Amino acid sequence: MDGYMGKILRVNLTEKKCTEEPLNPKYARDYIGGTGLGDRIIYDEVPPSTDPLSPASKIVFATGPVTATNYPSGGRYQICFKSPLTGILCDASSGGYWGADLKRAGYDALIIEGAAEEPVYLWIHNQKVEFKPAAHLWGMDALKVQEAIQREIGDERIRVACIGPAGEKKVLLSCIINDEGRAPGRGGNGAILGSKNLKAIAVRGNGAFPLHDPAAYNALCKKIAKDNAVSPAVAAMREYGTAQVLDNLWAMGDIPVKNWQLGLWEEGCKNLGGKKMKDTILVPHTACYRCTLGCSRWVKIEEGPYKMDGPGPEYETLAAMGTMCLIDDLNAVSFANDLCNRYGIDTISTGVAIAFGMEAYEKGLIKKEDTGGIELKWGDAQAMIAMTHQIGKNEKLGAILGRGVKRAAEALGGDSWKYAVHVKGMGTPMH
Ligand code: SF4
Repeated sequence: MDGYMGKILRVNLTEKKCTEEPLNPKYARDYIGGTGLGDRIIYDEVPPSTDPLSPASKIVFATGPVTATNYPSGGRYQICFKSPLTGILCDASSGGYWGADLKRAGYDALIIEGAAEEPVYLWIHNQKVEFKPAAHLWGMDALKVQEAIQREIGDERIRVACIGPAGEKKVLLSCIINDEGRAPGRGGNGAILGSKNLKAIAVRGNGAFPLHDPAAYNALCKKIAKDNAVSPAVAAMREYGTAQVLDNLWAMGDIPVKNWQLGLWEEGCKNLGGKKMKDTILVPHTACYRCTLGCSRWVKIEEGPYKMDGPGPEYETLAAMGTMCLIDDLNAVSFANDLCNRYGIDTISTGVAIAFGMEAYEKGLIKKEDTGGIELKWGDAQAMIAMTHQIGKNEKLGAILGRGVKRAAEALGGDSWKYAVHVKGMGTPMH
């Protein structure tokens, strides 16, 4: 079938068994794209009563017909699952290169089911699948896991999607991290891999698949890339990343401030925005697979308490861990973003949970003895970072906030539900 490898890989971790299945062409056409295909598989195979963190639960990694082609940004993949955070169907998307390599390795989608007895990782390369022991990777942070697997297999071009310590502990805000800090962040998907003892999925492939009219298709891809090269909107995205939202949209009241209490904070937004990042800590870096926009950031902080060198924060992170907490220290938020990548936790949900915690602390619903001695006050970057550690480690107040704001409010009681902004338990994103 044009645009597809034509195969789905099913991995049963309980039985340590892999099976190849033909892609259902009707599903591919009716639900075009990775989200539609993956959601339909979950709809068919995961009954509503399934505990998302049980072996009966499944997670689907899916690509679409433009994945791994020359189409700009054609490296994205989707994950589809029943969310342990909301209890309903969830899908999330991530950039990087992992999706393109999964497809080139031979598969349009990957269905993970069952649960391994011991920690494992999967190594999928050109239609071969290996189960590898992962006890030595258990507890390792998500950025280090990627390097460790590349070293172990001996190929730095291998792409890895993995969980950090938070997913292992089944933190409901945990997520998968792939490539260098890309994440399908939402819905607690890291906890699903943790519940299955699956630390990582490494992929590499150079397979090909048919296109309906390669000449016309590639001409279209070239035209889009050419248009992008001269578009002022794309140029701004390339120069300032998604952080430009803070520079440009604060005046519209589009940036949530102080746990959604305020809509305007000009100085704070500008201190966290794309221009400030470019002028201070931004260093050049490559974009995702075949991307002609290049929004992804890489930052380097040379010294001080927030010293780091790694993927930079996106708009959603800058708002959730910055303006929502009344923090406008770009270095501190960049450092917190790096911590989230390493623990494998969703920056949006984590920032929302900490902002909720700050408001509950202000109202006396959380006491200093609950936080492990931290004054969880508005604008306190050190407190925000300490709470990020607690959520990532699933300890102290972090073990409550790490369940998401709805469950945290239920645990705290009193009026705390008034400060929990969510949809079915998932913290609301930043618009
Ligand atoms: S660099 Fe940005 S725009 Fe390009 S694919 Fe990655 S996330 Fe999307």
